[in-house]
Amino acid sequence: MRHIAIIGSGPAGYYTAEAAQKQWGDDVKVDIFDRLPVPYGLIRTGVAPDHQSIKGVSRRYEQTALSDNVSFVGNVTIGEDVSIDELLGLYDAVVLATGAPRDRGLDLPGDHLRNVHGSAAFVGWYNGHPEFAALDPDLSGDTAVVIGMGNVALDVARILSKTREEFAGSDIVGHALEALVASKIRRIVVLGRRGPHQIMMTPKELGELGHLTRAAPRVDPADLPDVGEDALLEPGLRKSVNHLRSFAAIPESHRADVDIEVEFDFFASPRALLGEGKVEAIEVERTRIENGRAVGTGEFYEIPASLVVACIGYRTAPIPGVPFDERAGRFANDEGRILPGLYCVGWARRGPSGTIGTNRPDGFGVVERIAEDMPAPAGRKGREGFDALAAARGLEVVTFRDWKKIEEAEAARARDGAPREKFVDVAEMIRARG
Ligand SMILES: Cc1cc2nc3c(=O)[nH]c(=O)nc-3n(C[C@H](O)[C@H](O)[C@H](O)COP(=O)(O)OP(=O)(O)OC[C@H]3O[C@@H](n4cnc5c(N)ncnc54)[C@H](O)[C@@H]3O)c2cc1C
Repeated sequence: MRHIAIIGSGPAGYYTAEAAQKQWGDDVKVDIFDRLPVPYGLIRTGVAPDHQSIKGVSRRYEQTALSDNVSFVGNVTIGEDVSIDELLGLYDAVVLATGAPRDRGLDLPGDHLRNVHGSAAFVGWYNGHPEFAALDPDLSGDTAVVIGMGNVALDVARILSKTREEFAGSDIVGHALEALVASKIRRIVVLGRRGPHQIMMTPKELGELGHLTRAAPRVDPADLPDVGEDALLEPGLRKSVNHLRSFAAIPESHRADVDIEVEFDFFASPRALLGEGKVEAIEVERTRIENGRAVGTGEFYEIPASLVVACIGYRTAPIPGVPFDERAGRFANDEGRILPGLYCVGWARRGPSGTIGTNRPDGFGVVERIAEDMPAPAGRKGREGFDALAAARGLEVVTFRDWKKIEEAEAARARDGAPREKFVDVAEMIRARG
């Protein structure tokens, strides 16, 4: 029997488990560890709560999770509760699928000011990640600045704009829903160093901004390149740019009907956050594009800002004993290989890019490499050995069956029309398994 430990129960973890089953059938046992008592990583705590159809991908992971040779081992943090060396002694292969849960720092003067948040924290707050549930962002000011031109920036701008009714059917956590509907934010500035042709926003997500009840997007027509230049773009980006063109054409009469404006500020590089204790403004330098890169023009201006959310990317959290690539912010690896017996996959391997589906070929690829590197199992103890260690350490392991009870309890306490009301506290989750 081959014993594989996968660390992280997000998409990369479950696709790797699926690939291991396809590769070795009944001759493999897979344990999927997670530091949280609940599975699915960013499907639960990243993907926007008003995008339930995307979150539905977890049903596919559940099929893998319920098979006899795959187990969920929740509430165990690898690198704290158990070391990598210990796991390497118990399993034939250890695959790190720990994602990239830390915000990349803004590294600007004033980034320590209150109400300046990274998107991992802000998204974690409205999605009920136990680490960020208590963030309590201050939404009492008028203007929010969202830094970044990718889909996470769009998620944040949209969530800040929606009405209670527009959250119907979502699983946004109650504390965030109440704070958001009471929010006083009326201007949301989405700031990007480069221009409309360099955005990383996908058409469907960008298009949604044009259909909000109380908010309308604003694009300055002067920022848009000549329409003829769009022909050179790949089709997805061309569609996104079309959305920006239609936002630029929204008549002022329509704006009078909405009370929130989502304003795209292109060619704008943040230089400093200003304020006394709490953020009050952001200093920005106008840029121009030279060889695809944003270059400062020396023209500076300030945008008043009572809340700043930086959606500028993520870093993997280092684990003691695992070589780390500081510059790239992920584990040092060669196509997923880290050290003998130790591999990585998903965001922990590639960094934070691509869609959920991008993690599937990654999972299959890493299993191919494991199969190449170790044609025969080494007679490791696998789960039995881990259980002995867990008992000796008094670890409180949460199983998939426990998770199903937690899931049931979350569904039972949901608001009308919502699929669940998440527990946002680890102790509460553990109590809910009964
Ligand atoms: C805000 C946001 C919105 C997104 N929306 C979309 C979308 O709409 N559509 C789309 O296609 N993609 C979306 N993505 C991208 C998608 O979520 C990622 O591609 C995917 O989740 C990456 O999978 P992963 O398994 O590598 O990491 P993750 O999903 O982050 O999973 C990592 C898991 O590892 C666990 N873990 C971490 N450290 C440890 C440790 N030391 N011990 C044990 N467990 C540990 C974590 O608890 C977590 O469960 C979004 C991403 C973000 C951030």
